[in-house]
Amino acid sequence: MSAVIALAGNPNVGKSTVFNRLTGLRQHTGNWPGKTVAVAKGRFCWGGNSFQLIDLPGAYSLMAHSAEEEITRDYLLEGKYGAVCVVCDATSLLRSLPLALQAMEITPNVVVCVNLMDEAAARGIHVDGQALEKGLGVPVACVSARDGAGMDQLMAKLDRVCRQGNPPPPPTPYPPQVEGALAGSASTPQGRWRALARMEEDPELQSALVSGLYRRCEALCRQALSGRNPEPFPRQLRLDRLLTGRWVGIPAMLLLMALVFYLTIAASNLPSSLLSRLLFSLEEVFSRWMGAAGAPAWLEGALVQGVYRVTAWVVSVMLPPMAIFFPLFTLLEDLGYLPRVAFNLDGCFRRCRACGKQALTMLMGFGCNAAGATGCRIIDSPRERLIALLTNALVPCNGRFPLLILLLTLYACAGVGGAALPALGLTGLVALSVMMTFLASRLLSATLLKGMPSAFALEMPPFRRPQVGRVLVRSLLDRTLFVLGRALMVAAPAGLLLWCLCAVRVQGISLAARLAQALDPVGRFMGLDGVLLAAFLLGFPANELVLPIALMLYQSGGTLVQPGEAAQVGAILTANGWTGLTALCAMLFTLFHWPCSTTLLTIKKETGSLKWTAVAALLPTLLGAALCTAVYQIGRWFL
Ligand code: GDP
Repeated sequence: MSAVIALAGNPNVGKSTVFNRLTGLRQHTGNWPGKTVAVAKGRFCWGGNSFQLIDLPGAYSLMAHSAEEEITRDYLLEGKYGAVCVVCDATSLLRSLPLALQAMEITPNVVVCVNLMDEAAARGIHVDGQALEKGLGVPVACVSARDGAGMDQLMAKLDRVCRQGNPPPPPTPYPPQVEGALAGSASTPQGRWRALARMEEDPELQSALVSGLYRRCEALCRQALSGRNPEPFPRQLRLDRLLTGRWVGIPAMLLLMALVFYLTIAASNLPSSLLSRLLFSLEEVFSRWMGAAGAPAWLEGALVQGVYRVTAWVVSVMLPPMAIFFPLFTLLEDLGYLPRVAFNLDGCFRRCRACGKQALTMLMGFGCNAAGATGCRIIDSPRERLIALLTNALVPCNGRFPLLILLLTLYACAGVGGAALPALGLTGLVALSVMMTFLASRLLSATLLKGMPSAFALEMPPFRRPQVGRVLVRSLLDRTLFVLGRALMVAAPAGLLLWCLCAVRVQGISLAARLAQALDPVGRFMGLDGVLLAAFLLGFPANELVLPIALMLYQSGGTLVQPGEAAQVGAILTANGWTGLTALCAMLFTLFHWPCSTTLLTIKKETGSLKWTAVAALLPTLLGAALCTAVYQIGRWFL
């Protein structure tokens, strides 16, 4: 049987990188405080023995203050492992050592892994592993997990501790009042730890406990550290001052966002059109095959014009922008820029009485609202977590970007400025969705979810050189293909359903056309039309289906145009009475309407309540309907 090793550490010390190095897995890593919410598992072998590695959520302390810290503490207290590997940051040892000492209160079988040795060396900090080992009384391995240096030594030490165990390390000498309170506690490490944890309730004992812990850490650092004063690089500080500065921070953020959108739009036009030509030329081949095989017309219609065509549409519209947007976004994440965005937006969220961490879950929502909803677990206060959950779908996920980009390309630039104007337009729309998030959060905290915002510590990791190769692999495999795969799973059955709705006719009118007719008065009042509203409804499984559905309905089951041919799409929309104002309302409703089925299911799972799931669906829909109606009714007078 393989021995179990638990991997613990503060957020951002490179724990996922150590995990990946040891197990050869590609667990997602990045400068994203609190990203590991679930517990990951992996295996590795060393010296003929096999080990199971459990990656615990990042924790600053075992005096659990957050959900992540609670999971980590409970796991360590259960004691079902051979060894605990506590990952520390060589560039800020003083901050990482308390967790190691707390783990040693629970079990002697600890190995301390001092990571980021290369970064410490670059800053002129020298860590003496042997001195630290002597001071702590448990094995210490100094590593640079990113390039793999020192990992053999780490595995050898873990192997030894799992086989032989460590002798009990010297207990942390606490101030007399803490020792006094500990005197009567059980003699087992767990008993001693529980007694220490109980001291949390007494402010005086707690402050004595914390100062005792830090005094011991300071003494250890004095023994083990030498070299220059461990200050961050002045260049980093200057960059930080600029990117999180009061006047430059937000404009720089908007500029960077516009640049990312510009690159995405400009670079995805050509591949999109090539891909659609390829996929649509294959459609003829399939048709011919089915004809030759003697398939009935309805079967050919359902499979080729229904399933294949909608699937091909989704692939050619979604794949190119995603394959460009996700690597760029992951690059910013790897660089360490995203926590700065959270820092810039923190004040706004707090003024809305929400938690600053909501900025992070909102950023996750740009990739996928369902992922953003799951990410809300990083927010500790239930009230603030609910606000973040209910407002996450107000920012556009990647499934909605292609429709926004297409409408902006058709209606916002009219042939001038290339991709620059649509990129600016998209930046404006994204800024609007962020403002709506603030507004809705404020509204919720003034009505359904009253309360004061809680404080939280946002760690600002240093800017790090991104690993371009890994960023590409990770963003393409973990994000692009994952999102595309999920979209395809709903596109194929949706294509079939859609074909049926168009093909089944009652009194000569297809079911789809009847639905569109019924919705037409409401749609027109909001500046849209019945077809578009029906497309939004039928696109409930996935937002990326809205446009192909609308185009199919406009042509009442006729041919679906190739997505690469934007002008052709424009011609169909104009022929169906679309104006610039219709496009504007369509974009607003794309931003603000009910979340897709996956997101709603996730919200139901996270809140466990139908009531809050209904609020999550109603809130963006009502906001969107009100905004579209206002824009249309006012715009009508001017046009
Ligand atoms: P976690 O939050 O503790 O899981 O940290 P991650 O594994 O996600 O790492 C955070 C950042 O530190 C990433 O950008 C890693 O590439 C980087 N990193 C991790 N280990 C090392 C290392 O040994 N040296 C350097 N220079 N960077 C590292």
